[in-house]
Amino acid sequence: MSASNHAAAFALPATDADGRKNLVGLSRDELEAEMLSIGLEKFRARQLWHWIYHRGATDFTVMTTLAKPVREKLAETYAVARPTVVRDLKSVDGTRKWLLRMPDGQEVESVHIPEEDRGTLCVSSQVGCTLTCRFCHTGTQRLVRNLDASEIVAQVMLARDALGEWPAPPDGRMISNIVMMGMGEPLFNYENVAKALKIVMDGDGVSISKRRITLSTSGVVPAMKRCGEELNVNLAVSLHAVTDELRDIIMPINRKYPLKELMDACRNYPGLNNARRITFEYVMLKGINDSPADARALVKLLDGIPSKINLIPFNPWPGAPYERSTDKAIQVFGDIVNNAGYASPVRTTRGEDIMAACGQLKSASVRLSAADRAAIEKVLAEKDAALVG
Ligand code: SAH
Ligand code: SF4
Repeated sequence: MSASNHAAAFALPATDADGRKNLVGLSRDELEAEMLSIGLEKFRARQLWHWIYHRGATDFTVMTTLAKPVREKLAETYAVARPTVVRDLKSVDGTRKWLLRMPDGQEVESVHIPEEDRGTLCVSSQVGCTLTCRFCHTGTQRLVRNLDASEIVAQVMLARDALGEWPAPPDGRMISNIVMMGMGEPLFNYENVAKALKIVMDGDGVSISKRRITLSTSGVVPAMKRCGEELNVNLAVSLHAVTDELRDIIMPINRKYPLKELMDACRNYPGLNNARRITFEYVMLKGINDSPADARALVKLLDGIPSKINLIPFNPWPGAPYERSTDKAIQVFGDIVNNAGYASPVRTTRGEDIMAACGQLKSASVRLSAADRAAIEKVLAEKDAALVG
């Protein structure tokens, strides 16, 4: 089949489940159970897995290793659906952001960041976020719900459709890496994230290795160990402050899981060694956390933990209460950390013109009228109260 035919038959048009049950996001066991439930053999699940996750098929008619009556039977009950793409934005630097609408009308964003030798897909785990980190746009979103496994996997499927990367190559060029760094706190939705990542990591399907997957957490201490043991993906921790005093303010989750507990959980993250380090993310906020003394305290805090430090220049959003540190401050900070022996690359800002950079994602439109602002403040206060309580 020619490449263009392949794209037409396999990836597009994205199907709507139209009342049928969507097979995307079911585990292998669940898929087998579905086959048995409609009187088909168990091994059909294996065939379907290949077509859905390796070939990217969205239509049963192209699944030619299945007999026609089997395909027809499947199509009566099931669909291989995709979310609707509401908006598809491309940055001048090649970064791409999709706003996806789920069947219940809720929306999330995924971002693709192409680089010379690889491509990273930034995946969301929740609609909005229940946390309210003061520097993060997602934290100001009112509506929050967990994404289910199918909605998480679907972001990867959709990106592969759009980038034309089916069948899933062993070492994807466009999507070689996945970061759970989109909207939401992945460890507050652990079950669905774990189920989705197991599907994405499966070698007979999408086949992205755990070494190329990074999960970022704001520090949900009780879930970190489980994440390491069960998924064994790379861990990134949003640190952003070196004292409880400041972290309590800019990341309210710190009031529940303070630095000492967080650092212990990092130290005990399964599988850590010098070749496999935790990435500590540190957003550079002008005059807030970017002094040389902060840099020295950071070095001290990480002592004994195999770590990398990722300095992220603050990305502004409408109404944000902070500013980006100066280049000079970032350089001085980075030098101190580097001289202490930690790799500390400054994360290049990508996709800023389409609001796709770290911390800029938010699916509802922002209208900053006084009334809106007041409403947002009220919701933030409620979320805060729930967190502390
Ligand atoms: N909720 C998870 C996953 C989001 S990852 C977490 O917080 O780790 C997104 C990364 O971008 C996190 O490190 C987050 O702290 C950071 N971030 C949030 N807002 C930002 C902003 N405005 N500028 C730069 N980085 C930001
Ligand atoms: Fe949520 Fe992460 Fe944003 Fe904090 S930084 S509000 S945890 S998405």
